[in-house]
Amino acid sequence: ADTTASDKTWVIAMDTVFRPFEYTDENGDFVGIDVDIIKAVAADQGFKIDIQSLGWDAAVTAVQAGQADALLAGASITDERKANGWIFSDSYYDSYQVFATKTGSGIETLEDLKGKTVAVKNATAGAQYAESLKDEYGFKVDTYEDSPTMYQAVVLGQADACVEDKPIMADSIKSGNLDLVIAESTASDVAPYGLAIMNEKNQEFLDMFNAGLKEIKDNGTYDEILDKYLGN
Ligand code: GLN
Repeated sequence: ADTTASDKTWVIAMDTVFRPFEYTDENGDFVGIDVDIIKAVAADQGFKIDIQSLGWDAAVTAVQAGQADALLAGASITDERKANGWIFSDSYYDSYQVFATKTGSGIETLEDLKGKTVAVKNATAGAQYAESLKDEYGFKVDTYEDSPTMYQAVVLGQADACVEDKPIMADSIKSGNLDLVIAESTASDVAPYGLAIMNEKNQEFLDMFNAGLKEIKDNGTYDEILDKYLGN
């Protein structure tokens, strides 16, 4: 028999710790903005999903290898990625990259990073942002596998600063009670997040995602999700 779209279970690859977009809460449940959005869109469009929390790098690799159908992990929509075969959905959140340092470090601007070491998360927009600035400002880049180890490198003094998406940084510092402060003057341009597929054959899924995203924006569910994780 034919397998129709509604029979298929779509495998969605996600990051592991990327608060508040995806993380495991105190009850051991995998939650977050990305998780709630895909569940709401799936319910609206009537498709089945299998969420796999793999880590950023592994999630990208899984989608590239066809082991997962789509990447939903606060992925920044960039021209470079589009040129590399990433096909993005409509955007669902505006974000930007920013540096953070240890409280009291005296590092407030990019100029202050001369001779310093900056921790980045492998293959992220933040890593790319740091790479684009390191020669001009004379700092060194050290790569870490995930967000928590990157933050710990700065907390423990193995690096002088780190770079990540602003909402993740703000939430991670607050929830983890990290002794870090965001250096707002180091911010990048805004790049929105999108779900990504890397195989044209999954265009059908992208279309369903876009339709569902529009629907949950129109009916208030999207705002409720943002409010739940970002509301004051
Ligand atoms: N937004 C960043 C990027 O797209 C980081 C994503 C992540 O680490 N989950 O590279």
